[in-house]
Amino acid sequence: MYCKKCGKEIDNNAVVCTSCGCAVDKEPIKNGTKKTGVGVLLALFLGVLGLIIGLLLYPANTVERDSFLKGWLWTVIIAIIIIIISIGTSI
Ligand SMILES: [Zn+2]
Repeated sequence: MYCKKCGKEIDNNAVVCTSCGCAVDKEPIKNGTKKTGVGVLLALFLGVLGLIIGLLLYPANTVERDSFLKGWLWTVIIAIIIIIISIGTSI
């Protein structure tokens, strides 16, 4: 890796730069933390959107209502599973 201050190449395990002596930042490697956060937000957004659409398209017809609810329920369940998986992987 390279020193952030002077730009000289230094050992990956070095705590201080051998060239300028400044402390080397040991940034913890973020394994797609930002991506997972976006995924959680997207899943939450889709879940809420699914709920809103479901309520808006709720059929007045009693016969249609049964099949509609089944399809809608699965969408909500899948959205919840995606949210749980997204939150689980981010921790
Ligand atoms: Zn340096």
